[in-house]
Amino acid sequence: MSAFLLTGGRVIDPATGRDETADVLIRDGVITGIGKRLDTKGAETIDVAGAVVSPGFVDLHTHVREPGREDEETIASASAAAAAGGFTAICAMPNTDPVADSAAVVEKVWALGREAGLVEVMVAGALSKNLEGKKMADIGEMVRSFARVRLFTDDGHGVQDALFVRRTMEYLVAFDAIYAEHCEDAALAEGGQMHEGERSAALGLRGIPAEAEELMAVRDLALAKLTGCRLHLLHISTAGTVELVRRAKAEGVTVTAEATPHHFSLTDDALGDYDPNAKVNPPLRTEEDRAAIVAGLADGTIDAIATDHAPHADHEKDQELLYAPPGMIGLETALGLGITNLVEPGHLGLPVLIDRMATAPARILGLAGQGSLVEGGPANVTVFDPAAKWIVDPTTMHSKSRNTPVLGTELHGKVVHVFFRGTHTVTDGRVASEALV
Ligand SMILES: [Zn+2]
Repeated sequence: MSAFLLTGGRVIDPATGRDETADVLIRDGVITGIGKRLDTKGAETIDVAGAVVSPGFVDLHTHVREPGREDEETIASASAAAAAGGFTAICAMPNTDPVADSAAVVEKVWALGREAGLVEVMVAGALSKNLEGKKMADIGEMVRSFARVRLFTDDGHGVQDALFVRRTMEYLVAFDAIYAEHCEDAALAEGGQMHEGERSAALGLRGIPAEAEELMAVRDLALAKLTGCRLHLLHISTAGTVELVRRAKAEGVTVTAEATPHHFSLTDDALGDYDPNAKVNPPLRTEEDRAAIVAGLADGTIDAIATDHAPHADHEKDQELLYAPPGMIGLETALGLGITNLVEPGHLGLPVLIDRMATAPARILGLAGQGSLVEGGPANVTVFDPAAKWIVDPTTMHSKSRNTPVLGTELHGKVVHVFFRGTHTVTDGRVASEALV
């Protein structure tokens, strides 16, 4: 088997509080030593001085598009994009075709993830049959399947019926599973193309008010309190939702929240030239909202950064804003956006960024062996150069899709090496099994 010695890097592990210059020894898939005088016999030495050695990142929110839209992304191409972005685990959203609302579909996605072998592919199950918000999906069956589903969501839609939410939360409690909501009141959001505000008025586009998200967050927080169910709020985007989560946590509600790199990096200004690549759901909001997301990530109100990686085919995005589907890709730019827009301006330090990208999401999903660097644990390790500058180049990305408004921008912070269960999946920035994808 293989052995690697990473020498001279800054080892940061939020799970243990470690932040020091040290060597890391990986042998036969396991971290066998962190420190100075290690038994390095037979190990390949990789000099990582000046770089950060971190737990592999964990993405709570990835649209892999398989089954159903393999022209936009496959589990293999999403895995390659994830590895390139420094991830060692992703959670595949269930809005595929067919929908992941049964054991058969979640097991298929899980098996394809294992076959790709570049990251751990966790599968999220649907809350309702066919994401219709009416009849409960086969939740117990999915929990007990090989995929061992822990997080359930109708992402892409908010669940509109409060009684359905209550009953489903009561059911999920028995499995200690997570109810994850895409907070959006359908009636308030109907026909909206972007955030409702001065910008949408100036552009003459119908908007989605902040309240479409906040009303559903209020309802779900109340029902989580009532039922004791673990609630996770997906991609929160408004200052009001951040404040609601802050208050609910203070009251002891079992809630966690995530925010996306695009919501902490961009505002509705990005829609100024009607760029379909800046259309996303929930929409890019105002500067005040963006600042509240940043503050929420810094103080821990928002637990995790999640990409909401949502690939779309060129022919679908290359049309008028009104007809273009919402969503943008994000796996390969998440670290760069985090360092450029959170760390460099001084909003948070690297250990906190790593917590939000690796340790906290692993904890939320209950993923043993991810999100930490411990001797004797599986070697899920990412090495990145926080100072490296690079341009987001569509020709070198691993996703099958290119829909992101940050193409051509300069980001700081680049992934250099990734080890997934000790396998060297990314070497000098190149995904090792590219030929297989
Ligand atoms: Zn969503």
